[in-house]
Amino acid sequence: MKVSFIGLGIMGKPMSRNLLKAGYQLKVFDLNREAVEEAALYGAETAENCAEAVEGCDVCITMLPNSPDVRAAVLGENGIVKGAKKGMVLIDMSSIDPTESRAIGQILKEHEIEMMDAPVSGGEPKAVDGTLSVMAGGRKETFEQYYEMLSVMAGSFVYVGELGAGNIAKLANQIIVAINIAAVSEAFTLVRKAGGDPSLVYQAIRGGLAGSTVMDAKVPMMLERNFKPGFRIELHAKDLNNALNAGHSVHASLPLTSQMMEMMQSLKAYGLEKEDHASLLKYYEKISAVEL
Ligand code: NAD
Repeated sequence: MKVSFIGLGIMGKPMSRNLLKAGYQLKVFDLNREAVEEAALYGAETAENCAEAVEGCDVCITMLPNSPDVRAAVLGENGIVKGAKKGMVLIDMSSIDPTESRAIGQILKEHEIEMMDAPVSGGEPKAVDGTLSVMAGGRKETFEQYYEMLSVMAGSFVYVGELGAGNIAKLANQIIVAINIAAVSEAFTLVRKAGGDPSLVYQAIRGGLAGSTVMDAKVPMMLERNFKPGFRIELHAKDLNNALNAGHSVHASLPLTSQMMEMMQSLKAYGLEKEDHASLLKYYEKISAVEL
């Protein structure tokens, strides 16, 4: 099976490398030339644009920042739609607005190209390990057909419904993660401000009900003051914006999400948008004039 992979950033780079390691024949493209050249060193065939990247391929995986990037890669100049053969399947693993997944999928259908949305959670370490969690939307038969290929990149993959359902699941995930990081930041700022030892408190509470995957992933980073991404604030703000849009379109009120969005805007104002979302801690540090 010949696979095209477009988007070789923090996530796409290790995901594509795992596919190569598993023996898949890969043709890759990214706007960043360095990323393409690096993939060539690992045995990928390279392309000059998206159309060339999908020529002769049975399936194309995209791992791009947001909806406009996916739209540009699929429908823009030298886009996927120009080079794809009829019957090709596009598996978009980016986290984008579900209404855009459906709209792009509808246009592709007219070109006899099928689309699935299969965003992931787990972040860079799980992309490297090949243990991401995938939430997939689209035709169930197609999900089953590509199950084995997805399993090279993921430890858990759940079919959640029609095209767009994958990104709705991802938005739910992103709301929970953002609020969880904020709760952890708020609580540990209190500990420091009240004269406690955040490191000891973390050890004391991580095994109880307050413990979480988020706490175990982010508190050690906060204690080490390691804010290297990981998952950038600007990408999380993008997800919250998509969540608010999706929520408004179905009259779901998301008060905590809108609060989180404002906190992220404040961090952007401080120029922290390229840092890991663990730097939500800095929002609390600034408003309480304390350092963890
Ligand atoms: P990234 O910014 O590191 O990588 C995106 C890559 O896409 C870049 O290399 C960029 O050059 C390339 N690109 C953008 N537009 C392009 C186009 N039109 N054609 C070709 N290449 C193009 O982002 P990332 O962290 O790898 O995230 C990718 C997606 O995965 C995002 O939707 C993000 O929300 C999601 N995600 C990220 C993480 C994480 O921890 N980083 C975790 C889960 C999900």
